[in-house]
Amino acid sequence: MSQRKPLIAGNWKMYKTGPEAEATASRLAELVGKDESVDVMIAPPFTALALVDRVLNASPIALGAQNLHWEAEGAFTGEISPDMLKAAGCTYVIIGHSERRQYFGESDEGVNRKAKAALANGLKPVICIGESESQRDADETFSVLDKQVRLGLEGLPLRGPEDLVVAYEPVWAIGTGKTATKDQAQEVHAFIRKQLAHFFGQDMAAGIRILYGGSVKPDNIAALMAMPDIDGGLVGGASLKPEIFAEIIQFGA
Ligand code: PEP
Repeated sequence: MSQRKPLIAGNWKMYKTGPEAEATASRLAELVGKDESVDVMIAPPFTALALVDRVLNASPIALGAQNLHWEAEGAFTGEISPDMLKAAGCTYVIIGHSERRQYFGESDEGVNRKAKAALANGLKPVICIGESESQRDADETFSVLDKQVRLGLEGLPLRGPEDLVVAYEPVWAIGTGKTATKDQAQEVHAFIRKQLAHFFGQDMAAGIRILYGGSVKPDNIAALMAMPDIDGGLVGGASLKPEIFAEIIQFGA
C-alpha cells in the first residue's frame, strides 16, 4: 500500500449527454458522500462539464476533462483551451490517452505541449502511457514506456508532486476485460517511478501518483492497490455506472 493519497479517476469517454452525465454525477456524489480518504475525479465529455460541475458543487469529487489544446485561444476549430476547462470547473485533464494516440495521431511531443499548457493554467495533467500487446510480446514494454515518459514529461515545471498524475494503461487491457496482474503492473509502476526520479528528483517522484488503468473493476482494484507503487486507478467502462464506480472507490480507499 502506498503512502500517497489514492486517486480513483473515471474516464467517461464519448458516453453520456449533458443530462445523463448530470444524473450519473449526482448519484455518484450521493454514494461517495464526504469521504475524503480517497481523491475522486470524473471526466465527462466537454458538453457535460459545466452541468456536472454544478452537481459536484458540494461534493469532494473533482472534475476533469479528457483532452485540451495547448494554445490559449485562436482559430483551432473543434479544440478546447486550458482556460475554457478551468472556467468550466476542471481541476484535472487527461492527456495522451491511448485512444487519442491511436485514433487521432497524438504524439509524445503533443502530449508534452499539452501537459505544459495544462500546468501553466493550474490544471493537473493525468498523462497516460502504455504499451500495445504486440510491443509487450516483443519485449518492448520498457523501451516504449521509457520513450513515452522521456518525451512526454520532459521539462514539466512541477511545483510539487500533486501537480502531476501518471496513468499506466497497457493498451491490451483497455476495454478488453484483460487486466495486468498486480505483479506486472507493480513492475511497470516501479520502473516509471524510477524514471520520474531521474527527471524530477527522488523526493518529487516519491510523491507523484501513478494510476493503473485497464479493465479495473470492483473485484481487482483492491489487489492492485495493495502494491507499493500503485496509487489508484483510471477507470473507463466501470466508471459509467455510479454504483459500480462507487464500489471501486470504496476499495480504493
Ligand atoms: C480507460 O479508458 O482509460 C480505461 C482504462 O478503460 P477500461 O477501464 O474500460 O478498460
